[in-house]
Amino acid sequence: KKITIAIDGFSSTGKSTIAKQLAKELEYIYVDTGAMYRAVTLYALRKKYIDADNFSINDLVSDLDNINLKFHYNEALGFAEMYLNGENVEKEIRTLRVSDFVSKVAAVPEVRYQLVKQQQKMGEDKGIVMDGRDIGTVVFPDAELKLFMTASPEKRAIRRYKELIEKGDDVKYEDVLRNVQNRDYIDSHREDSPLRQAEGAIAIDNSDMGLKEQFERILNLANR
Ligand code: C5P
Repeated sequence: KKITIAIDGFSSTGKSTIAKQLAKELEYIYVDTGAMYRAVTLYALRKKYIDADNFSINDLVSDLDNINLKFHYNEALGFAEMYLNGENVEKEIRTLRVSDFVSKVAAVPEVRYQLVKQQQKMGEDKGIVMDGRDIGTVVFPDAELKLFMTASPEKRAIRRYKELIEKGDDVKYEDVLRNVQNRDYIDSHREDSPLRQAEGAIAIDNSDMGLKEQFERILNLANR
């Protein structure tokens, strides 16, 4: 029987890696909700609604209906890529620049309302793995399996740093660590659905756990 799997946790805890593997193994649909918040952030940056000094929340909110988000499955990559108003933005939404602003955009209640609605629609049929910050608490509080992933900020920053360098993004480790810590803080202190471990969620600290070990443990939980 197909179920709904909700994976939440701090930035760079390897949620998406595990979620993708799990979806592949179970033949489920995988939805990366962070990509949606990132795409809205990219839109806001391009429209100059947000920069280092200002954030015109009202301008972004009144423009929300013009933001069309779609996932298109990429056969070669084996996962769905994010499209913003018809444009593939998968690369651009992963830059440190977008990461630096995304938690502010994600703290806007109207943004969350819109995206949560779309996510709930995507999960109407069972057989879905969704990762984010509020999946087990808000989007699918009745999910059959809820996971809460954690790891030390330093371990997470090293992982993210390596990923960005591999992609050719010229970043400093200190900046990545600061970004991880800032997002942890904003994500867990915002008024609207702050990041927290959902009721009934199983916590997994993978600071010192390999991918294979994690995957086997989680697959066992999913097959129970
Ligand atoms: O998962 P990822 O690190 O790509 O998410 C980027 C940001 O989007 C998070 O730091 C958080 O601010 C926001 N987010 C959220 N709710 C979600 C998914 C992501 O607020 N469900």
